[in-house]
Amino acid sequence: MTKSMESVEERPKATVIDGRAFAQTLRAEIAVNAASFADRQGRQPGLAVVLVGDDPASHVYVSAKVRQASEAGIASFPHRLDSSTSESELLALIAALNADERVDGILVQLPLPNHIDENMVIEAIDPAKDVDGFHPYNVGRLHAGKPSLVPCTPLGCLLLLQERLGDLSGLKAVIVGRSNIVGKPMAQLLLNAHCTVTVVHSRSRDLPKECRQADILVVAAGRPGMIGADYIKPGATVIDVGINRLEDDAGRARLVGDVDFAAVSPIAGALTPVPGGVGPMTIACLLRNTVSAANSRS
Ligand code: NAD
Repeated sequence: MTKSMESVEERPKATVIDGRAFAQTLRAEIAVNAASFADRQGRQPGLAVVLVGDDPASHVYVSAKVRQASEAGIASFPHRLDSSTSESELLALIAALNADERVDGILVQLPLPNHIDENMVIEAIDPAKDVDGFHPYNVGRLHAGKPSLVPCTPLGCLLLLQERLGDLSGLKAVIVGRSNIVGKPMAQLLLNAHCTVTVVHSRSRDLPKECRQADILVVAAGRPGMIGADYIKPGATVIDVGINRLEDDAGRARLVGDVDFAAVSPIAGALTPVPGGVGPMTIACLLRNTVSAANSRS
């Protein structure tokens, strides 16, 4: 039987990219860098994490960030604020954290309650402490190809891709999704890494055809299982950023990505699982950005 006649079931499965293991290695390196900063400066790098309101998923994320910061030798300053906190109270806290010498990184957990203007809050953060990389100053520097604090999720995807593929130069990358948090910075990072980059989104035509061109496919659409086998070039490396919470018939919650893992696995060369792929890299990159901000400020 020729290769093209093999049924999908007979093809080898894609390598599963273990984001948990890679994030653990990264956190160990960050801990060494944090300890060396502490030796030199007489204090640990500091991360302020601000949470407004009682969104359950945000509370889980913030607790994980605080715990992992502490494990890496980063001092954390959590601020859990009531959902009735006013915009001016939040801006006053940001101003205080900007002025606090113990704080190297400020993370405001999104989304914020509707009565607070997210853009105003992001722009109030000192760009030197903007460890989420969302401030227009850092966005502009990333686009200009200059050193900057880079959004954590796309940075985590880039590190996974470089770990797997080495030099990305000349590879064709397609990104599904154009959000400011994932899609756009991902496109810029891959462009800076000399890929040929296409961004597709909800208004794009013939998505499967565009995606089938990709040596690297990064999916951040928030649509459970939308990427099937017909979107995949054989051997492609697929990074699934999507985190979607679904309930089974018994009401049990489970997390799934934007990629139909079972359908794509026989075609792709490598792909990230959900959970255990990009998610753990996001927090590791937040810690990496915090130590990097601390070193730049000292
Ligand atoms: P978003 O809603 O801001 O943006 C989604 C993008 O996908 C939009 O640009 C939209 O045009 C595009 N899109 C939506 N439906 C589409 C379709 N059918 N075809 C083509 N494009 C489509 O979302 P986001 O903040 O970028 O997050 C995307 C996903 O990534 C979500 O599931 C989110 O939970 C997840 N996420 C994961 C992490 C992580 O740490 N792993 C971090 C951030 C976001």
